[in-house]
Amino acid sequence: MTIQLYNTLTRKKEAFVPLEEGKVKMYVCGPTVYNYIHIGNARPAIVFDTVRRYLQYRGYEVQYVSNFTDVDDKLIRAANQLGEEVPAIADRFINAYFEDVSALGCQKADVHPRVMENMDIIIDFINQLVEKGYAYESAGDVYFRTRKFDGYGKLSHQSIDDLQIGARIEVGAKKQDDLDFALWKAAKEGEIYWESPWGLGRPGWHIECSAMAKKYLGDTIDIHAGGQDLTFPHHENEIAQSEALSGKLFSRYWMHNGYINIDNEKMSKSLGNFVLVHDIIKKHNPQVLRFFMLSVHYRNPINYNEELLESTKAAFERLTTSYQNLKHRKEASVGLTNNNQEWLDKISALQNQFIEAMDDDFNTAKAISVLFDLSKLANYYLLEKNTAVEVIDAFTKEFEELFHVLGLTLGKEEMLDEEIDALIEKRIQARKDRNFQLSDQIRDQLKEMNIILEDTPQGTRWKRG
Ligand SMILES: [Zn+2]
Repeated sequence: MTIQLYNTLTRKKEAFVPLEEGKVKMYVCGPTVYNYIHIGNARPAIVFDTVRRYLQYRGYEVQYVSNFTDVDDKLIRAANQLGEEVPAIADRFINAYFEDVSALGCQKADVHPRVMENMDIIIDFINQLVEKGYAYESAGDVYFRTRKFDGYGKLSHQSIDDLQIGARIEVGAKKQDDLDFALWKAAKEGEIYWESPWGLGRPGWHIECSAMAKKYLGDTIDIHAGGQDLTFPHHENEIAQSEALSGKLFSRYWMHNGYINIDNEKMSKSLGNFVLVHDIIKKHNPQVLRFFMLSVHYRNPINYNEELLESTKAAFERLTTSYQNLKHRKEASVGLTNNNQEWLDKISALQNQFIEAMDDDFNTAKAISVLFDLSKLANYYLLEKNTAVEVIDAFTKEFEELFHVLGLTLGKEEMLDEEIDALIEKRIQARKDRNFQLSDQIRDQLKEMNIILEDTPQGTRWKRG
Protein backbone atom coordinates (compact mmCIF):
# COMPACT_ATOMS: atom_id res chain seq x y z
CA MET A 1 0.00 0.00 0.00
CA THR A 2 1.22 3.43 -0.79
CA ILE A 3 0.29 6.59 1.03
CA GLN A 4 -2.51 8.50 -0.64
CA LEU A 5 -2.50 12.24 -0.21
CA TYR A 6 -4.78 15.02 -1.33
CA ASN A 7 -2.94 17.26 -3.75
CA THR A 8 -4.33 20.81 -3.95
CA LEU A 9 -2.79 21.09 -7.41
CA THR A 10 -4.93 18.30 -8.90
CA ARG A 11 -7.72 18.42 -6.31
CA LYS A 12 -7.45 14.66 -6.01
CA LYS A 13 -6.10 12.07 -3.65
CA GLU A 14 -3.04 10.64 -5.32
CA ALA A 15 -0.56 7.89 -4.57
CA PHE A 16 2.47 9.49 -2.99
CA VAL A 17 5.56 8.74 -5.07
CA PRO A 18 8.57 10.93 -4.28
CA LEU A 19 11.00 11.92 -7.00
CA GLU A 20 13.79 9.88 -5.48
CA GLU A 21 12.90 6.51 -3.99
CA GLY A 22 12.81 6.50 -0.20
CA LYS A 23 13.52 10.23 0.11
CA VAL A 24 11.15 13.11 0.64
CA LYS A 25 11.94 16.78 0.15
CA MET A 26 9.46 18.84 2.07
CA TYR A 27 9.07 22.61 2.43
CA VAL A 28 6.63 24.20 4.87
CA CYS A 29 5.99 27.95 4.93
CA GLY A 30 6.86 29.26 8.37
CA PRO A 31 5.65 32.23 10.39
CA THR A 32 6.36 35.94 10.16
CA VAL A 33 8.15 36.51 13.44
CA TYR A 34 6.78 39.76 14.81
CA ASN A 35 4.72 38.32 17.67
CA TYR A 36 4.03 35.11 19.58
CA ILE A 37 2.31 32.52 17.42
CA HIS A 38 -1.45 32.06 17.66
CA ILE A 39 -3.13 28.69 17.39
CA GLY A 40 -3.71 29.27 13.69
CA ASN A 41 0.10 29.17 13.24
CA ALA A 42 0.38 26.17 15.55
CA ARG A 43 -1.86 24.04 13.33
CA PRO A 44 0.47 23.76 10.30
CA ALA A 45 3.43 23.29 12.66
CA ILE A 46 1.69 20.31 14.31
CA VAL A 47 0.05 18.88 11.19
CA PHE A 48 3.15 18.87 9.00
CA ASP A 49 5.38 17.71 11.85
CA THR A 50 3.02 14.73 12.06
CA VAL A 51 3.20 14.18 8.29
CA ARG A 52 6.98 14.19 8.56
CA ARG A 53 6.93 11.75 11.51
CA TYR A 54 4.58 9.42 9.69
CA LEU A 55 6.68 9.45 6.52
CA GLN A 56 9.67 8.53 8.69
CA TYR A 57 7.65 5.77 10.35
CA ARG A 58 6.93 4.41 6.87
CA GLY A 59 10.65 4.32 6.15
CA TYR A 60 11.22 7.54 4.23
CA GLU A 61 14.15 9.80 4.83
CA VAL A 62 12.66 13.28 5.08
CA GLN A 63 14.48 16.51 4.39
CA TYR A 64 12.34 19.17 6.05
CA VAL A 65 12.82 22.90 5.51
CA SER A 66 10.70 25.63 7.08
CA ASN A 67 11.46 29.33 6.80
CA PHE A 68 11.12 32.35 9.03
CA THR A 69 9.95 35.61 7.47
CA ASP A 70 12.10 37.99 9.44
CA VAL A 71 11.74 41.12 7.26
CA ASP A 72 8.39 42.48 6.15
CA ASP A 73 5.86 45.27 6.73
CA LYS A 74 4.60 43.80 10.01
CA LEU A 75 8.10 43.57 11.43
CA ILE A 76 8.95 47.07 10.31
CA ARG A 77 5.75 48.38 11.92
CA ALA A 78 6.48 46.50 15.16
CA ALA A 79 10.04 47.86 15.17
CA ASN A 80 8.78 51.43 14.80
CA GLN A 81 6.16 50.98 17.50
CA LEU A 82 8.53 49.39 20.00
CA GLY A 83 11.54 51.56 19.11
CA GLU A 84 13.60 48.43 18.43
CA GLU A 85 15.55 47.11 15.47
CA VAL A 86 13.88 44.58 13.14
CA PRO A 87 16.55 41.86 13.71
CA ALA A 88 16.14 42.10 17.50
CA ILE A 89 12.39 41.57 17.25
CA ALA A 90 12.86 38.69 14.82
CA ASP A 91 15.41 36.99 17.12
CA ARG A 92 13.12 37.29 20.10
CA PHE A 93 10.09 35.80 18.39
CA ILE A 94 12.08 33.06 16.68
CA ASN A 95 13.18 31.92 20.13
CA ALA A 96 9.61 32.18 21.36
CA TYR A 97 8.45 30.16 18.36
CA PHE A 98 10.88 27.34 19.13
CA GLU A 99 9.80 27.30 22.76
CA ASP A 100 6.13 27.09 21.84
CA VAL A 101 6.33 24.48 19.11
CA SER A 102 8.78 22.27 20.97
CA ALA A 103 6.32 22.25 23.88
CA LEU A 104 3.77 21.10 21.29
CA GLY A 105 6.03 18.18 20.39
CA CYS A 106 7.23 19.54 17.03
CA GLN A 107 10.72 18.56 15.98
CA LYS A 108 13.01 21.19 14.55
CA ALA A 109 13.28 21.34 10.77
CA ASP A 110 16.57 20.27 9.21
CA VAL A 111 16.95 23.90 8.20
CA HIS A 112 15.05 26.99 9.35
CA PRO A 113 16.31 29.54 6.82
CA ARG A 114 15.84 33.25 7.46
CA VAL A 115 15.41 35.95 4.83
CA MET A 116 18.11 38.18 6.31
CA GLU A 117 20.63 35.37 6.08
CA ASN A 118 19.75 34.57 2.46
CA MET A 119 19.64 38.00 0.89
CA ASP A 120 22.33 37.15 -1.68
CA ILE A 121 20.45 34.17 -3.12
CA ILE A 122 17.15 36.08 -3.11
CA ILE A 123 18.67 38.97 -5.05
CA ASP A 124 20.32 36.52 -7.43
CA PHE A 125 16.98 34.75 -8.00
CA ILE A 126 15.26 38.04 -8.83
CA ASN A 127 18.12 39.06 -11.07
CA GLN A 128 17.77 35.87 -13.11
CA LEU A 129 14.03 36.46 -13.48
CA VAL A 130 14.77 39.95 -14.80
CA GLU A 131 17.32 38.53 -17.24
CA LYS A 132 14.79 36.00 -18.48
CA GLY A 133 12.21 38.70 -19.06
CA TYR A 134 9.87 37.44 -16.31
CA ALA A 135 10.47 40.50 -14.14
CA TYR A 136 11.14 44.19 -14.61
CA GLU A 137 12.40 47.08 -12.55
CA SER A 138 10.21 50.12 -11.97
CA ALA A 139 11.37 53.08 -9.87
CA GLY A 140 13.44 50.91 -7.54
CA ASP A 141 10.85 48.13 -7.24
CA VAL A 142 10.97 44.88 -9.17
CA TYR A 143 7.76 43.18 -10.32
CA PHE A 144 6.96 39.73 -11.64
CA ARG A 145 5.28 39.76 -15.06
CA THR A 146 2.39 37.50 -14.11
CA ARG A 147 0.78 37.13 -17.53
CA LYS A 148 4.03 35.91 -19.01
CA PHE A 149 3.84 32.77 -16.85
CA ASP A 150 1.43 30.37 -18.54
CA GLY A 151 0.41 28.27 -15.58
CA TYR A 152 -0.66 31.16 -13.36
CA GLY A 153 -3.76 30.20 -11.36
CA LYS A 154 -3.28 26.44 -11.64
CA LEU A 155 -2.94 25.84 -7.89
CA SER A 156 -5.92 27.94 -6.80
CA HIS A 157 -7.86 26.83 -9.89
CA GLN A 158 -8.60 30.32 -11.17
CA SER A 159 -8.25 31.60 -14.70
CA ILE A 160 -6.05 34.59 -15.36
CA ASP A 161 -9.08 36.55 -16.62
CA ASP A 162 -11.05 35.92 -13.42
CA LEU A 163 -8.04 37.12 -11.51
CA GLN A 164 -7.79 40.21 -13.69
CA ILE A 165 -11.34 41.19 -12.78
CA GLY A 166 -10.61 40.74 -9.09
CA ALA A 167 -7.30 42.56 -9.15
CA ARG A 168 -6.99 45.77 -7.23
CA ILE A 169 -6.33 48.67 -9.54
CA GLU A 170 -3.79 50.93 -7.92
CA VAL A 171 -3.76 54.56 -8.80
CA GLY A 172 -0.32 55.71 -9.85
CA ALA A 173 1.02 52.20 -9.52
CA LYS A 174 4.47 51.35 -10.73
CA LYS A 175 3.25 48.06 -12.18
CA GLN A 176 2.74 47.45 -15.88
CA ASP A 177 -0.24 45.20 -15.16
CA ASP A 178 -2.52 44.95 -12.12
CA LEU A 179 -1.72 41.25 -11.77
CA ASP A 180 2.03 41.80 -11.41
CA PHE A 181 3.41 41.35 -7.92
CA ALA A 182 6.47 42.72 -6.13
CA LEU A 183 9.71 40.77 -5.93
CA TRP A 184 11.69 43.68 -4.55
CA LYS A 185 10.51 46.85 -2.81
CA ALA A 186 12.48 50.08 -2.75
CA ALA A 187 13.21 51.21 0.82
CA LYS A 188 11.05 53.98 2.20
CA GLU A 189 12.42 56.55 4.62
CA GLY A 190 13.49 54.94 7.91
CA GLU A 191 13.06 51.34 6.72
CA ILE A 192 15.62 48.56 6.97
CA TYR A 193 17.30 47.98 3.58
CA TRP A 194 19.85 45.98 1.62
CA GLU A 195 21.86 46.94 -1.43
CA SER A 196 20.72 45.48 -4.73
CA PRO A 197 21.15 46.07 -8.47
CA TRP A 198 17.92 48.13 -8.25
CA GLY A 199 19.02 50.31 -5.35
CA LEU A 200 18.33 50.04 -1.61
CA GLY A 201 15.37 47.93 -0.62
CA ARG A 202 14.11 44.56 0.60
CA PRO A 203 12.45 41.51 -0.92
CA GLY A 204 8.72 41.04 -1.37
CA TRP A 205 7.24 38.22 0.67
CA HIS A 206 6.77 35.47 -1.95
CA ILE A 207 10.27 35.35 -3.36
CA GLU A 208 11.94 34.08 -0.17
CA CYS A 209 10.26 30.67 -0.30
CA SER A 210 11.14 30.11 -3.96
CA ALA A 211 14.76 31.09 -3.35
CA MET A 212 15.18 29.11 -0.13
CA ALA A 213 13.40 25.97 -1.37
CA LYS A 214 15.76 25.99 -4.37
CA LYS A 215 18.83 26.55 -2.22
CA TYR A 216 18.11 23.80 0.29
CA LEU A 217 16.04 21.30 -1.68
CA GLY A 218 16.64 21.92 -5.39
CA ASP A 219 14.40 22.88 -8.31
CA THR A 220 11.74 20.22 -7.72
CA ILE A 221 10.51 19.28 -4.28
CA ASP A 222 8.10 16.54 -3.27
CA ILE A 223 5.76 18.22 -0.81
CA HIS A 224 5.09 21.91 -0.35
CA ALA A 225 2.80 22.68 2.54
CA GLY A 226 1.19 25.46 4.50
CA GLY A 227 -2.09 26.87 5.72
CA GLN A 228 -5.03 27.01 3.33
CA ASP A 229 -4.90 30.82 3.34
CA LEU A 230 -1.49 30.64 1.63
CA THR A 231 -2.83 28.92 -1.50
CA PHE A 232 -3.50 32.27 -3.15
CA PRO A 233 -1.60 34.42 -3.78
CA HIS A 234 1.46 33.19 -1.87
CA HIS A 235 1.81 29.66 -3.23
CA GLU A 236 0.54 30.60 -6.66
CA ASN A 237 3.29 33.23 -6.80
CA GLU A 238 5.90 30.80 -5.55
CA ILE A 239 5.02 28.45 -8.41
CA ALA A 240 5.22 31.28 -10.96
CA GLN A 241 8.64 32.45 -9.74
CA SER A 242 10.18 29.00 -9.40
CA GLU A 243 8.84 27.45 -12.57
CA ALA A 244 9.58 30.57 -14.64
CA LEU A 245 13.20 30.32 -13.54
CA SER A 246 13.82 26.56 -13.67
CA GLY A 247 11.40 25.49 -16.40
CA LYS A 248 10.65 22.48 -14.16
CA LEU A 249 7.76 21.49 -11.93
CA PHE A 250 8.27 23.24 -8.58
CA SER A 251 6.43 20.89 -6.21
CA ARG A 252 4.87 17.52 -6.99
CA TYR A 253 2.35 17.67 -4.16
CA TRP A 254 0.74 20.61 -2.39
CA MET A 255 -0.82 20.15 1.05
CA HIS A 256 -2.92 22.73 2.86
CA ASN A 257 -4.40 22.60 6.35
CA GLY A 258 -7.83 24.03 7.18
CA TYR A 259 -8.74 27.06 9.28
CA ILE A 260 -9.24 27.39 13.02
CA ASN A 261 -12.30 29.12 14.39
CA ILE A 262 -12.56 30.42 17.91
CA ASP A 263 -15.97 29.74 19.43
CA ASN A 264 -17.35 29.32 15.91
CA GLU A 265 -16.01 32.67 14.79
CA LYS A 266 -13.16 33.45 12.48
CA MET A 267 -10.04 34.47 14.38
CA SER A 268 -9.31 38.08 13.54
CA LYS A 269 -7.62 41.17 14.87
CA SER A 270 -10.83 43.19 14.76
CA LEU A 271 -12.78 40.62 16.81
CA GLY A 272 -9.95 40.55 19.33
CA ASN A 273 -10.19 36.76 19.62
CA PHE A 274 -6.58 35.90 18.91
CA VAL A 275 -5.50 32.95 21.03
CA LEU A 276 -1.75 32.73 21.57
CA VAL A 277 -0.11 29.35 22.09
CA HIS A 278 2.09 30.99 24.68
CA ASP A 279 -1.00 31.70 26.82
CA ILE A 280 -2.76 28.36 26.31
CA ILE A 281 0.22 26.29 27.34
CA LYS A 282 0.60 28.20 30.58
CA LYS A 283 -2.79 26.84 31.59
CA HIS A 284 -3.00 23.53 29.75
CA ASN A 285 -0.78 20.59 28.95
CA PRO A 286 0.62 21.40 25.47
CA GLN A 287 0.26 17.72 24.58
CA VAL A 288 -3.49 18.05 25.00
CA LEU A 289 -3.51 20.94 22.53
CA ARG A 290 -1.60 18.81 20.04
CA PHE A 291 -3.98 15.90 20.59
CA PHE A 292 -6.91 18.28 20.10
CA MET A 293 -5.53 19.53 16.78
CA LEU A 294 -4.90 16.00 15.54
CA SER A 295 -8.35 14.81 16.52
CA VAL A 296 -9.70 16.57 13.42
CA HIS A 297 -8.59 15.75 9.87
CA TYR A 298 -6.06 18.37 8.81
CA ARG A 299 -8.09 19.59 5.84
CA ASN A 300 -11.22 20.22 7.89
CA PRO A 301 -11.81 23.37 9.90
CA ILE A 302 -11.36 23.14 13.67
CA ASN A 303 -13.44 24.94 16.22
CA TYR A 304 -11.52 25.86 19.35
CA ASN A 305 -12.69 26.85 22.79
CA GLU A 306 -11.61 26.11 26.36
CA GLU A 307 -14.41 23.62 27.07
CA LEU A 308 -13.50 21.55 24.03
CA LEU A 309 -9.90 21.53 25.17
CA GLU A 310 -10.99 20.37 28.65
CA SER A 311 -13.00 17.47 27.26
CA THR A 312 -10.05 16.53 25.05
CA LYS A 313 -7.91 16.41 28.16
CA ALA A 314 -10.15 13.78 29.73
CA ALA A 315 -10.02 11.68 26.54
CA PHE A 316 -6.26 12.00 26.31
CA GLU A 317 -5.89 10.87 29.90
CA ARG A 318 -7.95 7.76 29.22
CA LEU A 319 -5.23 6.68 26.82
CA THR A 320 -2.30 7.50 29.07
CA THR A 321 -4.00 5.78 32.01
CA SER A 322 -4.35 2.54 30.02
CA TYR A 323 -0.68 2.73 29.26
CA GLN A 324 0.26 3.32 32.90
CA ASN A 325 -1.93 0.42 34.00
CA LEU A 326 -0.16 -1.87 31.55
CA LYS A 327 3.20 -0.76 32.88
CA HIS A 328 2.18 -1.41 36.46
CA ARG A 329 0.86 -4.84 35.59
CA LYS A 330 4.10 -6.01 34.03
CA GLU A 331 5.73 -7.16 37.26
CA ALA A 332 2.77 -9.28 38.23
CA SER A 333 2.63 -10.89 34.81
CA VAL A 334 3.74 -14.40 33.94
CA GLY A 335 6.06 -15.54 31.15
CA LEU A 336 3.53 -17.01 28.78
CA THR A 337 -0.15 -17.78 28.68
CA ASN A 338 -1.86 -20.09 26.25
CA ASN A 339 -3.78 -17.30 24.58
CA ASN A 340 -0.69 -15.13 23.93
CA GLN A 341 -0.83 -15.30 20.17
CA GLU A 342 -4.50 -14.35 20.03
CA TRP A 343 -3.76 -11.10 21.83
CA LEU A 344 -0.64 -10.35 19.84
CA ASP A 345 -2.69 -10.76 16.66
CA LYS A 346 -5.32 -8.36 17.93
CA ILE A 347 -2.64 -5.76 18.69
CA SER A 348 -1.07 -6.08 15.27
CA ALA A 349 -4.49 -5.85 13.62
CA LEU A 350 -4.93 -2.47 15.32
CA GLN A 351 -1.49 -1.38 14.18
CA ASN A 352 -2.57 -2.16 10.63
CA GLN A 353 -5.71 -0.12 11.08
CA PHE A 354 -3.63 2.80 12.30
CA ILE A 355 -1.42 2.57 9.22
CA GLU A 356 -4.46 2.31 6.97
CA ALA A 357 -5.92 5.48 8.51
CA MET A 358 -2.69 7.43 8.17
CA ASP A 359 -2.04 6.13 4.66
CA ASP A 360 -5.37 7.63 3.70
CA ASP A 361 -4.31 11.28 3.49
CA PHE A 362 -2.92 11.34 7.04
CA ASN A 363 -6.28 10.79 8.69
CA THR A 364 -5.18 11.45 12.26
CA ALA A 365 -8.80 11.63 13.44
CA LYS A 366 -9.29 8.00 12.46
CA ALA A 367 -5.83 7.05 13.72
CA ILE A 368 -6.75 8.45 17.13
CA SER A 369 -9.94 6.38 17.16
CA VAL A 370 -7.67 3.35 16.65
CA LEU A 371 -5.69 4.45 19.71
CA PHE A 372 -8.92 4.37 21.70
CA ASP A 373 -9.55 0.86 20.40
CA LEU A 374 -6.07 -0.09 21.54
CA SER A 375 -6.80 1.36 24.95
CA LYS A 376 -10.11 -0.53 25.20
CA LEU A 377 -8.39 -3.73 24.18
CA ALA A 378 -5.68 -3.16 26.79
CA ASN A 379 -8.23 -2.51 29.53
CA TYR A 380 -10.03 -5.67 28.53
CA TYR A 381 -6.78 -7.63 28.63
CA LEU A 382 -6.02 -6.35 32.10
CA LEU A 383 -9.21 -8.06 33.30
CA GLU A 384 -7.58 -11.41 32.54
CA LYS A 385 -6.54 -13.38 35.59
CA ASN A 386 -3.14 -14.17 34.12
CA THR A 387 -1.38 -11.65 31.93
CA ALA A 388 1.80 -12.38 29.98
CA VAL A 389 4.87 -10.18 29.92
CA GLU A 390 5.11 -10.65 26.17
CA VAL A 391 1.60 -9.31 25.59
CA ILE A 392 2.04 -6.44 28.04
CA ASP A 393 5.25 -5.50 26.22
CA ALA A 394 3.55 -5.68 22.84
CA PHE A 395 0.80 -3.37 24.10
CA THR A 396 3.16 -0.82 25.63
CA LYS A 397 5.44 -0.87 22.60
CA GLU A 398 2.44 -0.26 20.35
CA PHE A 399 1.29 2.67 22.49
CA GLU A 400 4.78 4.16 22.49
CA GLU A 401 5.28 3.80 18.74
CA LEU A 402 1.94 5.19 17.71
CA PHE A 403 2.14 8.04 20.20
CA HIS A 404 5.58 8.86 18.84
CA VAL A 405 4.25 8.97 15.28
CA LEU A 406 1.67 11.53 16.37
CA GLY A 407 4.30 13.46 18.35
CA LEU A 408 2.63 12.66 21.67
CA THR A 409 4.24 11.54 24.90
CA LEU A 410 2.83 9.12 27.41
CA GLY A 411 3.43 10.82 30.70
CA LYS A 412 6.27 12.46 32.50
CA GLU A 413 7.02 10.00 35.27
CA GLU A 414 8.04 7.24 32.91
CA MET A 415 11.62 8.35 32.33
CA LEU A 416 14.01 5.93 34.02
CA ASP A 417 17.13 6.97 35.89
CA GLU A 418 19.37 5.32 33.28
CA GLU A 419 17.62 7.22 30.48
CA ILE A 420 18.17 10.48 32.31
CA ASP A 421 21.85 9.62 32.88
CA ALA A 422 22.25 8.80 29.18
CA LEU A 423 20.72 12.12 28.16
CA ILE A 424 22.97 13.99 30.56
CA GLU A 425 26.01 12.22 29.08
CA LYS A 426 24.82 13.23 25.62
CA ARG A 427 24.47 16.82 26.78
CA ILE A 428 27.98 16.88 28.27
CA GLN A 429 29.35 15.64 24.94
CA ALA A 430 27.30 18.22 23.04
CA ARG A 431 28.78 20.97 25.18
CA LYS A 432 32.29 19.65 24.58
CA ASP A 433 31.51 19.74 20.85
CA ARG A 434 30.22 23.29 21.31
CA ASN A 435 26.86 22.11 19.96
CA PHE A 436 24.87 24.41 22.24
CA GLN A 437 21.70 23.96 20.26
CA LEU A 438 21.66 20.26 21.08
CA SER A 439 22.72 20.86 24.66
CA ASP A 440 19.87 23.35 25.17
CA GLN A 441 17.46 20.99 23.47
CA ILE A 442 18.36 18.21 25.92
CA ARG A 443 18.04 20.55 28.87
CA ASP A 444 14.57 21.55 27.65
CA GLN A 445 13.59 17.96 27.05
CA LEU A 446 14.57 17.09 30.61
CA LYS A 447 12.76 20.13 31.92
CA GLU A 448 9.64 18.86 30.14
CA MET A 449 10.02 15.67 32.16
CA ASN A 450 10.40 17.72 35.32
CA ILE A 451 14.09 16.91 35.65
CA ILE A 452 16.16 19.82 36.89
CA LEU A 453 19.85 20.02 36.05
CA GLU A 454 22.52 21.65 38.12
CA ASP A 455 25.91 22.23 36.53
CA THR A 456 28.52 22.15 39.30
CA PRO A 457 32.34 22.15 39.14
CA GLN A 458 32.13 18.42 40.02
CA GLY A 459 29.84 17.72 37.07
CA THR A 460 26.15 17.78 36.28
CA ARG A 461 23.67 16.75 38.96
CA TRP A 462 19.99 16.20 38.48
CA LYS A 463 16.89 15.98 40.56
CA ARG A 464 13.20 15.45 39.92
CA GLY A 465 11.27 18.69 40.21
ZN1 LIG B 1 6.07 30.34 1.49
